[in-house]
Amino acid sequence: QVVVVGSFNIDHVWHGEALPRPGETLVGSYATGPGGKGFNQATACARSGARTVFVCALGTDAGAELARGLAARDGIDLRAESPDAPTGTAGIYVARDGSNSIVIGPGANGLLSPEFIARQAQAIAAARLVLAQLESPVESVLEAMRLARAAGVRTILNPAPANAPSTRELLAVADVLTPNETEFAALLARHAGERVDAGALAEFDDARLHRLCRLLLPRGTVVITLGAAGAFVSHREDKCRGDEVACYRVPAFEAATVDTTGAGDAFNGALASSQAVAPDRSFADHVRFASRYAALSTEHEGAAAAMPKLATR
Ligand code: ADP
Repeated sequence: QVVVVGSFNIDHVWHGEALPRPGETLVGSYATGPGGKGFNQATACARSGARTVFVCALGTDAGAELARGLAARDGIDLRAESPDAPTGTAGIYVARDGSNSIVIGPGANGLLSPEFIARQAQAIAAARLVLAQLESPVESVLEAMRLARAAGVRTILNPAPANAPSTRELLAVADVLTPNETEFAALLARHAGERVDAGALAEFDDARLHRLCRLLLPRGTVVITLGAAGAFVSHREDKCRGDEVACYRVPAFEAATVDTTGAGDAFNGALASSQAVAPDRSFADHVRFASRYAALSTEHEGAAAAMPKLATR
């Protein structure tokens, strides 16, 4: 099984001609649905074939009931702490040209406690893999990763969103780190004192990207997701197995893309489930599986709702 630790949000999405300016009131079409990086990734993980435990914090409101109902439908074992705060929310405005503005109300997500994580130690020790993001308090994510490490369970850290706080200590307990371009540039600046242009990363040659990845995570594997340009993988040289090479690219799969929201979440959930379900496959195979799953997720609107259900691997 995979234990996913992270956030659940109710997304409120308005589509309009343009984004509202200060003081302006616009009329747009409205939709609501489940989101939050943690829940999106847990949904992707379950729908791509792995037994999934989702550890999160919810309010005692209608949002929490929605989360429980959706988790049950996907067979996700939901373990929720109930702090005195509303369930997380996101207000998302999308303009006709695809640009967006987002306000997150973390609510309960911001109160997920290390003590509650510690109470999940058995589930973590029984897992093949623990997957976490940074929409939850750093000390709680760190607790989950430490418990995993202590039990010999592999860890994936998706360091998203880019402006979330993170520590060197946290990076050091990740076996696999999966930033997108913006997150990679932010982590390099914060933890390695290197300034790079996030938009230019896909054009960097492999040797340069590999060197930057080694600076950031000397002991682990880094997978940089590059949107429609695919993904770049960097392993520690002496950890390569068999005919594995230290760094390589995995192209994106062709898709009839309508909405790339949650592509990174689809990628992370599937990367985790692939390793849990087929542990004997190569890491490159897992990344290809994740890329294919993420491409499929872009063919549907929404976040968690866009995660495709795979009948077989
Ligand atoms: P995020 O959503 O976190 O910004 P990316 O945009 O890097 O993450 O996307 C994650 C992965 O999803 C990519 O590495 C790629 O495999 C896949 N992907 C993203 N956009 C597309 C697309 N337009 N077509 C096909 N695959 C895509």
